[in-house]
Amino acid sequence: MKKILTIIGARPQFIKAAPLSKAIGEIKNFEEIILHTGQHFDEKMSDIFFNEMKIPLPKYRFNINNLNHGAMTGLMLKEIETVLLAEKPDLVVVFGDTNSTLAGALAAKKLHLKVAHVEAGLRSFNNEMPEEINRILTDRISDYAFCPSEQSVQNLKNEGYDNFNTEIIRTGDIMLDAMMMFADIAEDHSKIIDTVGHESFVLATIHRAENTNDISRLRSIISALESINKKIKIVLPLHPRTQKIMEQAGIKTNLTIIEPVGYFDMLTLIKNCAWVMTDSGGLQKEAYFMEKFCVTLRDQTEWVELNDCGANLLAGANTDLIIQQSLKIADSKFDVPAGLYGDGKASKHIVSYLENCI
Ligand code: UDP
Repeated sequence: MKKILTIIGARPQFIKAAPLSKAIGEIKNFEEIILHTGQHFDEKMSDIFFNEMKIPLPKYRFNINNLNHGAMTGLMLKEIETVLLAEKPDLVVVFGDTNSTLAGALAAKKLHLKVAHVEAGLRSFNNEMPEEINRILTDRISDYAFCPSEQSVQNLKNEGYDNFNTEIIRTGDIMLDAMMMFADIAEDHSKIIDTVGHESFVLATIHRAENTNDISRLRSIISALESINKKIKIVLPLHPRTQKIMEQAGIKTNLTIIEPVGYFDMLTLIKNCAWVMTDSGGLQKEAYFMEKFCVTLRDQTEWVELNDCGANLLAGANTDLIIQQSLKIADSKFDVPAGLYGDGKASKHIVSYLENCI
């Protein structure tokens, strides 16, 4: 039996873990153990995803959250190491770009365990983003870099990975697997459109540190959304971090603000919205998968192919530009090439690769 220890801790990682756990479960001599760091911990940011997607319950669940980056990553490193010493897995899997990703990879590598990074090779080329640091460092110590796109492979090659001991494997994007697994049942289970109560609406999310930690950026984004909201209603499932900062700064809005939603509600919102406005990484692609334009509230994106094909328009936090980009797509037909992120079987490609090498 080969033991795979999967480390997750934040909302997008639960979504990515669902298809991978299923694919691992289909291999006879693979056993998966899940470790949840607790980076996201409450019902709406964590438990709902486990329940909806029937992700196997974590064998280990920590409660490491609400700390500065150094303290959070350090504490995770310590706790994860204890588990790895006890479990001695054949492979440690980490996803994406959070502190849980970096702590998991680092703890494993220091113990000479094999590390697989799912969603490897992405770069925004903005080192101010905590996620960028996590990505760069995790890739560098991974044995297997499972890349979602052609650009992510190219990024690693540009950084000299042909000379390193990292296997680079282009698998497509595991978020497409998740969407394909759950899109049909999502709408049957979701009542979110009735709750929201608008026939046509734009879906927005804001949670990146670069937008929430800088009040002037947050104010300009909200001001753009307010202006668009006069023409078409904006629905904003509000991340707890953004909510707290808006309350502290006294930012009031007329937008349709709802609590963070589960994945099924989210897929239903994307499917039914006019377009998406977000600083989320995952949501940019989900918009594309569902053939919706996306105005990205960031100055750069790691999903550059979406910009190149016109599916995604960067607007940063510039009020006028956000409005301008929105007007540009409001009446445009979504006519962009499909298939940028593989065939929706990334999890199967990952697992069959692993079958041959662990
Ligand atoms: N998401 C969700 N409910 C929400 C907001 C986001 O299910 O209220 C999903 C979203 O569809 C995507 C993932 O969470 O699949 C992205 O998470 P987030 O935006 O937190 O992180 P990022 O992708 O930017 O790392």
